[in-house]
Amino acid sequence: MMGSNDKPQDELFYAFNLDEIVPQDHLLRDIDRVLDLSNLREHLAPFYSHTGRPSIDPELMIRMLLIGYCCGIRSERQLCYEVTMNLAYRWFCKLKITDKVPDHSTFSKNRHGRFRDSEVFRFVFEQVLKRCMEEGLIGAEGFAVDASVVRADASKQKHQEDDDDWGGGSRAINEYLDSIAADGAPATPPKKVSQTDPMARWTAVLGGPAYYAYSTNYLVDTDNGIIVDVEATPALRTPEVWSTKTMIERVQDRFGIEVKRLIGDTAYGTAEFLGWMVNEAGIEPHVPVWDRGNEMAGRFGRSNFMYDEQTDSYTCPSGKELRRFWRNFNKPRTGVTKANEIKYRSRKQDCDACPMKEQCCPSTDYRKITRSVHEPARDVARAIRKTPAYRRTRRQRKQVEMLFAHMKRILKVDRLRLRGMSGAQDEFLLTATAQNLRRMAKVLGTGPPGIRKMAVA
Ligand code: SF4
Repeated sequence: MMGSNDKPQDELFYAFNLDEIVPQDHLLRDIDRVLDLSNLREHLAPFYSHTGRPSIDPELMIRMLLIGYCCGIRSERQLCYEVTMNLAYRWFCKLKITDKVPDHSTFSKNRHGRFRDSEVFRFVFEQVLKRCMEEGLIGAEGFAVDASVVRADASKQKHQEDDDDWGGGSRAINEYLDSIAADGAPATPPKKVSQTDPMARWTAVLGGPAYYAYSTNYLVDTDNGIIVDVEATPALRTPEVWSTKTMIERVQDRFGIEVKRLIGDTAYGTAEFLGWMVNEAGIEPHVPVWDRGNEMAGRFGRSNFMYDEQTDSYTCPSGKELRRFWRNFNKPRTGVTKANEIKYRSRKQDCDACPMKEQCCPSTDYRKITRSVHEPARDVARAIRKTPAYRRTRRQRKQVEMLFAHMKRILKVDRLRLRGMSGAQDEFLLTATAQNLRRMAKVLGTGPPGIRKMAVA
């Protein structure tokens, strides 16, 4: 006989245990086992008043936000709805079946207020990182760095025409104006400035269409793919590269993590950055050297010229000398340009008589070779590139790229929801926290991978 389920659903009392409903191998259970927010209230205490009505529990809001970032729920309205309806989410938030879920507007108020003032997202990120360290998931010395461009929440059509007239001023605009007041106008002004999020940079990736964006920068442990630090920057190469210095110094100060080997792409192979890595920070650079000297097709590049440290001169393929100066000056000169480079020149009479002139300097009277003051550091990177260890570390760099792909495809952080640099920083910190939590849950978790995967799909 065919059964039917048209029973009334109006019972008043149920015997119901939320803890029994959530499967033991659910991803959120694994995350809950490794998430320690016991110090959160203490950290936030100075930012709450001692009088007045009790606020919504900040741990509840942090747990809800973590669900959003771990499970790719980007809308706060949607997040509140999902937490109301999903029993596992309720369990993770420590809510009873009858408890009310906070309104989506509460997030906005707290995110831009006391959460930002108290840097609570960095606090949570660091609590998770500490746990990773306790579990032995941070390796001894090898780290990789990379940046990824993420679209800002700014229209591609709305550009600010007159820089003096910003009108009413939203939070993002005030942040932009404050940064100009503090640092002065940028030396190279951007092509376009967004009306809604002026801190976002107008940029194009790999010849695609341009849009407003920020960059997220990850410093990643290569042993287990744990993100040890994250920093938001404008989508520009120079701030991206130098944010690495900020991250390396911060992890050393706060956690005593010493970066001894750094893996990066060509963007990190500039002379200044290699100079900092090798001479100041004592880091082994596993980075391709950014070298313009070898870019001339069919002509002698810098590698065809031998440098002699003793005489501080180059020898060309025809055995002639290239020097900084060919005469003495009354007032001694260093020959170092504003770009921290030294130019070495051959003599015109040598080149005029040279049979290899066509391959060397066909359109000039003499050959010029530019050497960075950081050339010894570049030589260190070149020497590392020839070692077998370098081939291994090149593969390890893929870990950062995979984290960015995971961030955009699975966690759906391919466009920001918050504006301004502080909004980007908050979003990137929460994303990195979610990625570390998922990684820890995967490595230390209890459930079969198939079920855990289903739970977050
Ligand atoms: S052209 Fe001048 S610098 Fe070039 S190989 Fe000949 S002599 Fe040397």
